[in-house]
Amino acid sequence: MQMKLTEIAHALHIEMQGLTETTITQVVFDSRQAQPGSLFVPLVAARDGHDFVAAAFENGASATLWQKDHPLPAGAHNYLPVTDTLAALQQLSHYYLKKINPLVVAITGSNGKTTTKDMTAAILAEKYQVVKTQANHNNEIGVPITILSMEQSTEVLVVEMGMDHAGELAALSSLVDPDIAVITMIGEAHIEFFGTRAKIADAKMEITQFLKPTGTFIYNGDEPLLRQRAQSLTQEQLTFGRQSSNDLRASQIVPTKEQTTFMTNKWPQQQFLIPMLGDYNVDNALAALSVGARLGVELPKMQQALAHFQPTKNRTQWLKAANGAQILSDVYNANPTAMIDVIKNFSRVPAAGRRLLVLGDMLELGEQAADMHAQVAQAINPDQIAAVYLYGDLMKSLQVALKQSLPVYYYQLGQMDLLIAALKKDLKADDMVLLKASNGLHLDQVLAALLP
Ligand code: ATP
Ligand code: MG
Repeated sequence: MQMKLTEIAHALHIEMQGLTETTITQVVFDSRQAQPGSLFVPLVAARDGHDFVAAAFENGASATLWQKDHPLPAGAHNYLPVTDTLAALQQLSHYYLKKINPLVVAITGSNGKTTTKDMTAAILAEKYQVVKTQANHNNEIGVPITILSMEQSTEVLVVEMGMDHAGELAALSSLVDPDIAVITMIGEAHIEFFGTRAKIADAKMEITQFLKPTGTFIYNGDEPLLRQRAQSLTQEQLTFGRQSSNDLRASQIVPTKEQTTFMTNKWPQQQFLIPMLGDYNVDNALAALSVGARLGVELPKMQQALAHFQPTKNRTQWLKAANGAQILSDVYNANPTAMIDVIKNFSRVPAAGRRLLVLGDMLELGEQAADMHAQVAQAINPDQIAAVYLYGDLMKSLQVALKQSLPVYYYQLGQMDLLIAALKKDLKADDMVLLKASNGLHLDQVLAALLP
């Protein structure tokens, strides 16, 4: 980006007194990333960014915002006083967005946001200059920082939007006024804070609050909660999913270990390939294809983009254990829908030997946690799964639900050493093992113990 400091001050309604004109080329909130041309934004969180203003200037920063409730240091120069640095960052990003004026695609959903964002950006990059949120920067800081990273030539901005409380998506939507709003699906993530899936759906629908009147709402039509809520919108709507009522639907989904192919109703002669395991990723691809088709990207280019796109960080990752066994690692995140889906997909991957599951607790499920752990049993088919290792207090419910249908080994929190020892003893070279739990369970330590 490029903006004069006077223009930034003007955008934030700040008097220019005491500022030396300079060109800002980058907005940063981490002083270690500051360099000449940077505007530093000291955010007040667990640590106070104002303590790092001096460091930012040492690294060459050209100017800083400064929250007025902090005493101004002597000799302060190129400090832009604001009431609230986060609000000012957002205000500046809104100003800059209107100036560059790209088409905005905003993506939310309980699962699949990052994947859909990456697929959508890959497809749109076939035709447009695209900027997307990096990694998982999907919150009230990541979205404005992404906006402020756009070059003048940016034609489309693709933003992932995450939330765990009501009101957050409305705020994010207001930052960008989307031209296209996408909801990938409704799951149970963060249900602890919401109570019901209906309330999660309400919160996800907030992404449409600032959808332009001429905009398009693209959503998973297999979800009745979304269909009901979409009825009250006046904007154009497109649905995707598996059911016949959807505008874009997938069929003939064929998973293999590292890729998935499918067909659609819209382009009946054309096969699509995505370089990822998981039929849920087909839904993400349908969302991305809906956006791409709406914005006029040609079919062969969309097919190519999907086949070659690089997932930011593929959560499900195939790795080889020290003894040669194949590990499907998904240890950083877990909620009931995602756990059920990944188990089902893992169960369908052709295997030379046995398939084993290592499952740890799913956190943030509140009162429904026990039920939701028990429900995972429906995804575990003893014809396809040879044994299940469970870790964590909540997984006790799954152990009970599985009854005696297959060998189940249960470990309490604190017994990870025992789990690792048993697993290492049991695991054979031609086995496949799925590891999945919430990040807080630290199954990455089990993974590390199995790797060479
Ligand atoms: P986060 O909330 O952490 O930002 P996200 O919504 O960005 O997550 P991804 O990173 O794309 O989601 O995918 C995370 C995991 O969610 C995947 O590994 C997979 O297990 C599951 N998942 C992805 N897409 C879907 C989908 N459409 N439906 C159900 N589960 C999905
Ligand atoms: Mg994400």
